[in-house]
Formats: sequence, structure tokens, C-alpha cells
Amino acid sequence: MNSADRPLIVGAGPVGLGAALFLAMQGRAPRVIEMRDTPSPHSRALAVNPRTLELLESSGVAQRILALGKPIHGAHFHRKGRVIAALSFAGIHPKYPFLIALSQASMERLLSEALEAAGGVIERGMRMVECRNVRDGVEVVVEATNGGARDIVRCPWLLSAEGARSMARQQLGIDFPGTSFAREWHLADAPLRAAPDDDRAHVFFSDGGEFQFMVRVVDDAASDQAKSPLWRVLGNRPEPLKRMIQAEQDGPPVWESSFRVSHRINTTLTDGAIHFAGDAAHIHSPVGARGMNLGLEDAWVFAQLVKSGRLQEYDGLRRAVDRQVVRRVELVSRMASGESRFFRFVRTFVLPWSIRLPFVRARMIATLTGLDHDLPADIAGGGE
Ligand SMILES: Cc1cc2nc3c(=O)[nH]c(=O)nc-3n(C[C@H](O)[C@H](O)[C@H](O)COP(=O)(O)OP(=O)(O)OC[C@H]3O[C@@H](n4cnc5c(N)ncnc54)[C@H](O)[C@@H]3O)c2cc1C
Repeated sequence: MNSADRPLIVGAGPVGLGAALFLAMQGRAPRVIEMRDTPSPHSRALAVNPRTLELLESSGVAQRILALGKPIHGAHFHRKGRVIAALSFAGIHPKYPFLIALSQASMERLLSEALEAAGGVIERGMRMVECRNVRDGVEVVVEATNGGARDIVRCPWLLSAEGARSMARQQLGIDFPGTSFAREWHLADAPLRAAPDDDRAHVFFSDGGEFQFMVRVVDDAASDQAKSPLWRVLGNRPEPLKRMIQAEQDGPPVWESSFRVSHRINTTLTDGAIHFAGDAAHIHSPVGARGMNLGLEDAWVFAQLVKSGRLQEYDGLRRAVDRQVVRRVELVSRMASGESRFFRFVRTFVLPWSIRLPFVRARMIATLTGLDHDLPADIAGGGE
């Protein structure tokens, strides 16, 4: 295949790697370029949901995730030293009735290894600096990050898996409408002792709108350096480790970050022969652990459509699903973070009893586990 016939994926985060893997397994390994010389060591996304495990079964990656990660069986919501609401994932999925705690760094390693085993190659140190639709495909300017040598390549289609700051989105002038929370959120991954049950995620609500989220971090590289188990502590106030309620820090954090929470989605996921998946297409808060998982589902749908020659259906099939997830996660995030008096009232007085209602309970569990929609039935078999 000469380079004009070879599709291009830009970005080797989980979504670019996932799309490349799904395509390589069909014998259609695309070219993959990544501007970073080495993979990011940061945990970032922390949980793999049942839908992702289903999609990664045939590659063997799901089995490796299960072997490395730790099952999370539910979530507890705490206030004033009491559990005010509890969710259990029991029965949500016949094979995978849990989320698996496993860091994004570990996931990227597993996906890269599977991609390479399927014949794919990741070209690191290569950045896309320009792209435009041309007759019969896309023209792309690629630059080596160590010296700036440039090359112009042609490809039949391009998948931007470049993350939230997608250069392709900016170059094509695609809008990215949505909202951002006024307050930054803060996270730390640190070793903790005397922490709460580690097979649950925990959310602590305090008066005045503060919340704190805690879940185990399972990362094969970072865990080796720490003496106590690593946890993610995330909240909407600075210095989350100093504000912990039910745990003691047992060593320096391995990663700290502060970030602005936004909920946005592209006005289209396809412009000519340029397509968008993952954070390049949509962003939302980490509540619900959907970011990486939703992006991997985009990647799977995209690869199935390539296989069946129906790429023109990608935006129509995918954007409505992504938009609905972004809206739901925004609603849950507004309630969890209690930014307004209304949402503080809801989380304090409405959540504890409403979560006992089967409909509310089922909806919350589906949002947290990625099982809030079905995959399009007519592409599941690949259309061969
Ligand atoms: C601080 C933080 C905490 C988070 N916590 C969670 C969490 O707890 N749970 C959760 O589900 N999600 C979380 N996320 C979100 C999650 O990390 C993303 O949803 C996920 O990374 C999306 O994957 P992606 O492959 O679409 O994009 P990315 O992971 O951003 O990967 C994009 C890749 O493209 C490369 N790239 C970009 N532009 C170019 C270019 N022009 N040329 C070549 N390469 C390029 C980048 O170097 C990068 O490797 C968090 C994110 C952050 C930043």
C-alpha cells in the first residue's frame, strides 16, 4: 500500500490506539503518528467499564485488563460520617458486573502491545501541523518534533484522536460548544493508609458545596514505588489531600493536577474525509469514568464502519450517543460538585431517597458503567 492509500490516525492516546488496534485486527493497520516521544506516565482515566471490556475481548486486551486491574463493585456516598446512599453494580452485566480500576497509563501500554502484536506501528515524535480535505482524501503536513523536518502526505481518510485541543478541529473551524465550570477541580494520586473499602468508589459531600471523590489507582509502574495502596483523591477545592475525611496520607503524591471542567462536543464528528473520536470530539468531567471508555467506543464504531464501507454514517450514528452521555455526565457532575444551591439541595435531600427508586438507581448505574445505550446492532457483526 503506498502512503496515499494508507489511512492516518493522529494521536496515540487510548482512542487512537484503540482505533488502530480494531483496524489492525481486520488486516487494515493504518499509519499512526504521535507527537510525544514516550507515552504519558500519568494515570488520568482510572476505570475500565463493562462495555469497553466487551469491545476488547476479541483482541485479548480485556483478559489482560482483568488480570492486572482491581474490580470496583459499587459506590458509596458519604455525608457527616454516614453513608447516605449506596450503589451496587451486582447484576449489571452477565460477565462483568463491575468497573475495573486500571490507570490510563497501563491501558495505553496494553493497547500498544496488542497493536504491535497485530502488526501496527506507532510513529512517535511526529506531529501533524496542518490538514485539509482535498479531492479523494486528505492532505496532511507532518513534522518531526526533533528538528522540524516536514513531509506532506496524502491519505484516504484521517482520524483525529488528538485529544481535547485537536488541531484538526481548529483548522477546519469546527465549533466546540458547551460550558465550563467556574471553579477548577484538583486531583492527587497518593499512597493512603486507613482508607475506606477499596472495592468501592467513595464520594464525600460537605456543607458549602465541597465534594471529594476517592477510588483506588491501579497502575503497574506507579504502584511499585509506593508502600501503601495508591488512591485518587479528587475534589472541587485545592489541596485535596489536606481535606481528606477518612484516610491518612502515607507518602508523597505520585501525581497532582488541577484542571477546568468543561462539557463540550463538536458540532460534527466528520468533515469531508476527516473524522473525530475521543476527547478530540467531546469532553466532560471525570465523574462517571466515561472519557476514555466513551472514546474507545467511538473507536470501535469507527473501525466497524470502515470495515463495512459505511464511514459516511459515522457522525449520524455516533454524535447523538456522545451528546447524550456528555449531557448526563454534566448533570451528575453539577449535582456531585454542588456548585449551585439547587444542586446542593438535590444531593443533600433528594439523592438519599431517590437513589432507592429502581428507575433512578438503574439510570445512575447505567451512566457509571457505560451501559446506558446499546451499540448499533447492524454494525456489530461488521457488515462483511
Ligand atoms: C487531569 C486529567 C484527569 C482525568 N481523569 C479522568 C478520570 O478519572 N476518568 C476518566 O474517564 N477520564 C479522565 N480523564 C480524561 C481521559 O484522560 C481522556 O478522556 C482520555 O485521555 C481521552 O483519550 P484520547 O485518546 O481521546 O486523548 P488523549 O489521551 O489526550 O490522547 C491524544 C494524543 O494525541 C497526541 N497528539 C495531540 N495532537 C497531536 C498532533 N497534532 N500530532 C500528533 N499527535 C498529537 C497527544 O500527544 C496524545 O498522546 C482525565 C484527563 C485529565 C487531563
